[in-house]
Amino acid sequence: MSYKNYPMVSRIVFGRGSFDQLGDILLPKRVNQRAPFVYLVDDVFQNNQWINSRIPLAYKDIIIFVSADEEPKTSQVDALVEKIILDFSELPSGIIGIGGGTVLDLAKAVSILLTNPGEAKDYQGWDLVKSPAIYHVGIPTISGTGAEVSRTTVLTGPDRKLGINSDYTPFDQVILDPELTKDVPKSQWFYTGMDCFIHCIESLNGTYLNAFSQSYGEKAFQLCQEIFLEDHLTKEEAEDKLMMASWHGGMSIAYSQVGVAHALSYGLSYLLGTKHGIGNCIVFNHLEDYYPEGVRVFKQMMEKHEIELPKGICAELEDHQFDIMIDVALSLEPLWENAIGSKWKAIITREKLKALYQKM
Ligand code: NAD
Ligand code: ZN
Repeated sequence: MSYKNYPMVSRIVFGRGSFDQLGDILLPKRVNQRAPFVYLVDDVFQNNQWINSRIPLAYKDIIIFVSADEEPKTSQVDALVEKIILDFSELPSGIIGIGGGTVLDLAKAVSILLTNPGEAKDYQGWDLVKSPAIYHVGIPTISGTGAEVSRTTVLTGPDRKLGINSDYTPFDQVILDPELTKDVPKSQWFYTGMDCFIHCIESLNGTYLNAFSQSYGEKAFQLCQEIFLEDHLTKEEAEDKLMMASWHGGMSIAYSQVGVAHALSYGLSYLLGTKHGIGNCIVFNHLEDYYPEGVRVFKQMMEKHEIELPKGICAELEDHQFDIMIDVALSLEPLWENAIGSKWKAIITREKLKALYQKM
């Protein structure tokens, strides 16, 4: 038995308004005046002066606004890397991602591909990255995915949806400023928040569970219950706590694994482009056989916040399309092994997965 030797985010700031410390944090990291800081910023903030006026641009630094309408693709990473290499005479001093999981994952991947040859798709998998990435900073503006703390960057490539899991993936610096999440629309707040809740359920009910994962998972679970089911928190307190729940949920799965909801949600995302947060909710809503208690609490949360999930998203699909989703889901072997145990192949049949997808 060999235990994971897990790299962590090296530095972390937490606090409302801490975004204003970015300039001071970056100052000693500037390589020289020709090596810019490249900001990848969610284009939802394109006209947001409250955010943009606080980005400390100097010398050749640039902001590239990116859309989070679709989940990140390997081709998008390659295009960004090519643009940065063509536009500047030197490699950047750093890549700073400001946004949700989509933008954070792009920032991680771009920082890796700037120092590693080839294309992003070549690194989808485990421990394929050979050289350290460019200095990279993550600043989440919505809470739940745990992308700010994780060792992966999930990308959709030509052949599969799979993360670049490596020791060089985690951010060198994270700024957790809960105030940045204040304008997240309610439904998106719920979907991305539920990603965190589902991380906890899948980690706490998995066969990979251990005291490390449990301690983070239980804390995140308790925070989610407070945020999504109780009434005593102010908006600010709830924002602060959800940001910490996301962090803890990410830490919990870092040392265990996700499970059935994520496996099936990856299938939806690959075939239909369903985004991670809402896709997880659509799947999890039908997983009472696997996570009875978690699904019960989830339904309470949906009711309390009057969330209506889309229905019938698989209604028009043909057999070969179900097969594609089932192939994607089944390829995620560690997730099934965590959820069901080492004999999962005898239990999880294609028919069962098809029946589940048909309910969605
Ligand atoms: P997201 O980044 O896709 O953003 C969702 C929506 O919220 C977008 O429309 C975005 O513009 C908007 N938004 C973000 N911040 C906002 C703000 N402050 N105000 C108003 N609108 C705002 O959402 P997400 O759920 O955080 O991320 C999903 C992505 O994260 C997926 O691509 C998924 O694969 C990835 N993910 C990665 C990991 C990891 O460990 N790397 C883990 C889980 C999920
Ligand atoms: Zn997730």
